Amino acid sequence: MKPSFTVSIIDKSSQDEDPLQLPQSDLISTSTKSHSFLTNYFDNATKEDWEDWRWQIANSATTLDRLSDFLDLSEDEIKSFDSLKDFFPLRVTPYYLSLIQKDNPNDPLRKTVVPIINEHIHSSVEKEDPLNEDEHTPVEGIIHRYPDRVLFLVTGFCSTYCRYCTRSRLVGHKNICNIDCIENAISYIEKNTQIRDVIISGGDPLTLQDFEIEYILSKLRRIPHIEIIRIGTKVPVVLPQRITTNLVNILKKYHPLFMSIHFTHFNELTEETKQACERLADAGIPLGSQTVLLKDINDNVETMTKLMQGLLKIRVKPYYLYQCDPILGSSHFRTKVEKGLEIIKGLRGFTSGYAIPNFVIDSPGGGGKIPLLPEYFIGKDENNLLLKNYEDKIFKYPDYL
Ligand code: SF4
Repeated sequence: MKPSFTVSIIDKSSQDEDPLQLPQSDLISTSTKSHSFLTNYFDNATKEDWEDWRWQIANSATTLDRLSDFLDLSEDEIKSFDSLKDFFPLRVTPYYLSLIQKDNPNDPLRKTVVPIINEHIHSSVEKEDPLNEDEHTPVEGIIHRYPDRVLFLVTGFCSTYCRYCTRSRLVGHKNICNIDCIENAISYIEKNTQIRDVIISGGDPLTLQDFEIEYILSKLRRIPHIEIIRIGTKVPVVLPQRITTNLVNILKKYHPLFMSIHFTHFNELTEETKQACERLADAGIPLGSQTVLLKDINDNVETMTKLMQGLLKIRVKPYYLYQCDPILGSSHFRTKVEKGLEIIKGLRGFTSGYAIPNFVIDSPGGGGKIPLLPEYFIGKDENNLLLKNYEDKIFKYPDYL
């Protein structure tokens, strides 16, 4: 079966059909927890179906009716669907649903993917495009904010939609990518020789077919001034079955290739996600995490410590902790900035330095990422800097030669 879930950017007629029919050993194996979810909810599906990423996408929940087969929905969640058709669509893979508690509306992962009525409340500080990305779009599919690097949006599709998505104005709504757009975007990158770093994003680029991914990577790699390629994705977290050996063999041909993986909560650190990340790391792909700080989901030191330490165990280096962008309908997700500083203060000194992400605000209006740190520098006397350590003890550093 070939579900028509995504916009194919290339004419497939000349491609081999079904490149993902791999031997069993190439698939991400199913945990006991996933297997019991499969047998409870999918009468006619097999373990092999579950391990096929295309089956996962074809069987994702996209409607209220389907979602209510898996979760006991609250009044609030049900009501939010009255206007959902005009807003950001719903989509959750069966695998990610298996991680969510059926009868708990406060389950942290559930709150990131199931809409509530607050999503339809728009405050005056919120904007559809708070980072002014559209103004930094010289050609369709490219966001060019910093001189030496660009974001390359190759699809508007994700296997699971996060309700707080910064790009919800594009993602899930429009076909933001077709072959002409891809070719124009690549020409733009070719002509602008100051670009040395391309971040392939969307939507989720790893929802494209293997040959589409290879097409884009090979075109970029042929451009002499492109030094590094990065892929931004949530696939290893919401659809780990997609990390097939075939895909990894393609990715590793285009080094130096980095991957930024979107994690939210330690409940995402499952056996399947571990296999997916280890497979990518074994292929020499440096993995970094990106996490959005979300109210009543991951906004405390204990949760964040568990997530960051857990990421290191699966070979993902915590990279960014983002203050949630003020997109329309996001007030129930946003915390005060102090909360992020409190979390960084609760990590620094109390766990490995490798486990500490950079806390940043993507500045509204398009000024780029601005790092924020708790106050460790507290002043100076004639010859010394006065510095505060993680235990709030003051130390003097002789700052003279
Ligand atoms: S995976 Fe990324 S692009 Fe897709 S909905 Fe989530 S935040 Fe948006």
